[in-house]
Amino acid sequence: SIVVTGATGHLGRHVVEQLLEKVPADQVTAVVRTPEKADDLAERGVRIAVADYNAPETFDGLFAAGDKVLLVSGNEFDKGRVGQHKVVIEAAKAAGVALLAYTSAPGSLSAALADDHRGTEEALTGSGVPYVLLRNGWYHENYTENLAPVLEHSAVVAAAGEGRVSSASRADYAAAAVAVLTGEGHENQTYELGGDEAWSFAEYAAELSRQTGKEIAYSAVSGEVMKGILGGAGMPEPFADILVGVDASMAKGELVVSSGDLSRLAGRPTTPLSEAIAAALKG
Ligand code: NDP
Repeated sequence: SIVVTGATGHLGRHVVEQLLEKVPADQVTAVVRTPEKADDLAERGVRIAVADYNAPETFDGLFAAGDKVLLVSGNEFDKGRVGQHKVVIEAAKAAGVALLAYTSAPGSLSAALADDHRGTEEALTGSGVPYVLLRNGWYHENYTENLAPVLEHSAVVAAAGEGRVSSASRADYAAAAVAVLTGEGHENQTYELGGDEAWSFAEYAAELSRQTGKEIAYSAVSGEVMKGILGGAGMPEPFADILVGVDASMAKGELVVSSGDLSRLAGRPTTPLSEAIAAALKG
């Protein structure tokens, strides 16, 4: 079976959707915390397994020998994600899975956000389980799903200076994961995944201006100012710290990925940012 955790999340849904184009539904298992959120998948014949990274016993017997598993990294920053992910790695090891792919972060990323990914990578590569590190770069959607304040203030505000980022759509990263889960010869490989083209926030603002017909400018601010803005918008401080840390990494070019791995695995060019903007503006 091909098993996908986080299957009711944004990325996981893309992965399951694309898997269903390639393999019969009864060969796909969606691991979810809340089965009601997966009713549509169950109706299409996908097997549903209920498990929570916080409850190791829920993974007992979930995997079978020979399974190919995608571990989608969790989003509970305050719950010790390395420990959560180790629960899945241990269960996969006990079962003797054929492959365990993990959605990580670019190897060049030094921001605090990367710590959980490095910790998980170490646990996985040291486990003896055949692994794949899918070092996902940034999502277009991190920006295009948060356009409301940008359009309201006609400003893109970030603490990323002139830094560039090679983002791609979640569907692109999902295509890479599906290629690994359905293909051969990916054991113990590390893929640095990012969009074909890197862009700067000034270019992003220019593209938004072009598509909206409004004058939208990039306002490069300091990390401290950015923290204040995020805090003022109601974001808890630890989370604001993480985001500002990512901006600082961007300023240093740490989110530029030039390996070509993503379009190579997906078998097509990555989605241009302009396309993601157009889709978001359409609503
Ligand atoms: P989502 O937040 O949409 O999905 C996270 C998934 O993880 C959800 O399905 C969620 O389950 C599941 N999950 C979280 N905690 C647990 C748990 N304790 N037990 C079982 N499942 C759990 O994120 P995306 O799909 O957009 O992205 C996938 C991951 O990539 C994120 O979780 C994060 O680690 C990382 N990420 C990467 C970004 C990038 O730009 N590369 C940006 C943002 C995140 P449920 O559906 O029940 O909530």
